[in-house]
Amino acid sequence: MPCTFVRLTGCNLRCDWCDSEYTFTGGVRLSIDEVVERVQALSPAGLVEITGGEPLLQEQEVLALMDRLLAPGYRVLLETSGERPLQKVPSQVHKIVDVKCPGSGEGGSFYTENLRSLSKNDEMKFVIAGRQDYEFAKAFSREHHLVELTGGVIFSPAFRKDASGSRDTSHCLLDPQTLAEWILADGLNVRLGIQVHKFIWDPALKGV
Ligand code: SF4
Repeated sequence: MPCTFVRLTGCNLRCDWCDSEYTFTGGVRLSIDEVVERVQALSPAGLVEITGGEPLLQEQEVLALMDRLLAPGYRVLLETSGERPLQKVPSQVHKIVDVKCPGSGEGGSFYTENLRSLSKNDEMKFVIAGRQDYEFAKAFSREHHLVELTGGVIFSPAFRKDASGSRDTSHCLLDPQTLAEWILADGLNVRLGIQVHKFIWDPALKGV
């Protein structure tokens, strides 16, 4: 679905396969009014995703921005690493919450209290670079009943961060076909999440 992205600068994690390292620094300082104006210019109604970097590092401003976008009827998504507390995020916001697997280099960063902030309006996401990550994601999902607790659990194959050129699965650190076969063999009720924009446009292209 067409979606307007609000991408915030800064992240306190350093995932090995991070494809948005350009967000660690730089950016443009904008007031909440200016962000809302830009969103309205791009999309007078519809879907807005707040992402980063890690958007909740600017928690106070991001919470205010969420309220400003929810009020006129935007459907608001939040993409977050799972390391920051989620308690204050409005329940209408659809949270897509990562749990970092060992292969990311940031395993163990998930803030466990966040499990209490999840509902059927939210999704959990594991980016998976190999079998060890898969086993971790499977065990974590089962232990915390994520399929029952949330609106969906996503297993997504990690992409090489320097991917460019061809728009195919050769850039995946784990072949999606292999991941699909593992999911089917184990009978998991999870979704295989593919970064669709990396197959439609050049994987290195920003702003799509
Ligand atoms: S949490 Fe997200 S933005 Fe931060 S390093 Fe990991 S993948 Fe990159």
